[in-house]
Amino acid sequence: MTITGTIAVIGAGTMGNGIAHVFAQHGFKVNIVDVSLAQLDKALANIAKNFDRQIAKGSATEEQKKAALANISVYSELAKGVADAALVVEAATENEELKLQIFEQIDTFAPKDCILATNTSSISITKIAASTGRAGKVIGMHFMNPVPVMKLVEVINGYATDKEVTDAIVALSKQLGKIPCEVNDYPGFVANRILMPMINEAIYTLFEGVAGVEEIDTVMKLGMAHPMGPLQLADFIGLDVCLAILRVLHDGFGNPKYAPCPLLVNMVMAGKLGTKSGEGFYHYTPGSKDLVVSSRFRGQ
Ligand code: NAD
Repeated sequence: MTITGTIAVIGAGTMGNGIAHVFAQHGFKVNIVDVSLAQLDKALANIAKNFDRQIAKGSATEEQKKAALANISVYSELAKGVADAALVVEAATENEELKLQIFEQIDTFAPKDCILATNTSSISITKIAASTGRAGKVIGMHFMNPVPVMKLVEVINGYATDKEVTDAIVALSKQLGKIPCEVNDYPGFVANRILMPMINEAIYTLFEGVAGVEEIDTVMKLGMAHPMGPLQLADFIGLDVCLAILRVLHDGFGNPKYAPCPLLVNMVMAGKLGTKSGEGFYHYTPGSKDLVVSSRFRGQ
């Protein structure tokens, strides 16, 4: 089974625009669907800006940018966006109830042979699949952020995923220039089962006053050769996304070691979501690359 034809991407946020970028760059027609028109506009602007970055680095050309942008259409109505799709990649907000509703709708409106993939960071592929009438065709296709740069695709087999669907998604990931890694469907899969407890522990370390934001990130960058400290990475992922994933791990394993740090819960309730809201552990000024610790944590 080879996937050719239109790719529908549901959700035009951080991940959706990156996923659309990569498919369009590799010659696929892409329909991006979002309930927010503002997010659709922002996604198109981000894709153009990210192509400019690639052009400046010499990894894409002006012609490739033009061709890729011409491959992309945007839709605010899911039924229209998925009507002719060969593959749907869902990258909407990390919320189980929302994803189950979205998959029910996709199952109704997408062609019967269409493969349905989700970019979820942690929600059960098996449960999402069970909300459709085609569980064998549902799979996890977990891209990493930023999608045009990061090589890994975690390919997650649900309990009922057909082998030929897995093989098709593995082959497609390679076609996109990515390196797929096949894993099984348990809370957090592999990437976030290991990453999120580390981020949560970094937040607890700050919360308990063991060290400040810069010190925690510097220890992990210089000591463990991580390109980015865990607090900066949490800001980059989105603190709301981190909290949602920790809750899935906590509920899924029933083990208190995954309980989200109360500081993370407070920050999300206060709307301090990291780079996307302009503030998290650091403060972000548009157009500036300087890493400035949020005033809330200065002097700690
Ligand atoms: P985001 O908050 O940046 O974007 C989510 C988008 O979904 C928003 O534009 C929102 O308007 C849209 N949306 C909400 N309801 C919708 C609906 N019913 N139909 C269509 N669109 C809808 O989130 P994100 O960071 O891009 O995360 C998206 C998915 O990717 C989540 O499942 C997340 O766990 C996963 N993921 C995130 C990262 C990361 O680093 N942020 C990495 C890997 C995977």
